[in-house]
Amino acid sequence: MTVLTDLYQEVILDHNRAPRNFGPLDHPDRTANGHNPLCGDELRVYVALDGNTVTAIQFEGSGCAISKASASLMTEAVKGKSTAEVDTMFRAFHDLMTGDPSVREAAGPQLGKLAVFEGVREFPIRVKCATLAWHTLEAALHEDAKVASTE
Ligand code: ZN
Repeated sequence: MTVLTDLYQEVILDHNRAPRNFGPLDHPDRTANGHNPLCGDELRVYVALDGNTVTAIQFEGSGCAISKASASLMTEAVKGKSTAEVDTMFRAFHDLMTGDPSVREAAGPQLGKLAVFEGVREFPIRVKCATLAWHTLEAALHEDAKVASTE
């Protein structure tokens, strides 16, 4: 159980237990739905924008601890950021879990608290849980897909 203990670090457990920015947002500028069929995670992201800046973000849905905690931490991380900054964070977050060691080393410092998900890369199936919220947010921001899927 040692590895699982690492995976479900305290931050992840805390955000799963008490997700931040959880629930619908009134008058969102953008929304998108995400679904991870491998795990059954489903979530919806609501975004309010002022120009290119994320002024408010909420999410709702159901899923495993990793998917919910990742969505919760994401909402905290992107609030007040520009869409370009969000794109950069998404790439860094993705690199943290899928990149080679040098890529991960570069990505970690940009991510602050989000770096707790590095342990998830040991579990390829759970990577999809951790990145679901980000794929969904990207879909909401760029409107290139109304339904995000990690497949
Ligand atoms: Zn999951």
